[in-house]
Amino acid sequence: MNTRTCSICEMGQLILYTEKITVVHLGQQGQIESQYSMCDYCNSEQVGADEARFNKLAMNAFKKQVFKTV
Ligand SMILES: [Zn+2]
Repeated sequence: MNTRTCSICEMGQLILYTEKITVVHLGQQGQIESQYSMCDYCNSEQVGADEARFNKLAMNAFKKQVFKTV
C-alpha cells in the first residue's frame, strides 16, 4: 500500500479504511463497502479520487443488483 501525505496538515499519513454503509436505491436497502482515508495526525477524513471511484463502482454494482430484483 502506498502512503500519502495528508494535504490538510501536511504532517500525517493517510490511512485507508473500509466501512460498510447502508444505501437505498429505488426503495431497496442494501449495504455496500465504502472507502475513505483518515489522517493519522489531524484525523481528517478525506475521500480521494481512488476512494471516490471505488465507492462509485460499489454503488453502481448495488444499483445493478436492485435493477434485477425489481
Ligand atoms: Zn492531516
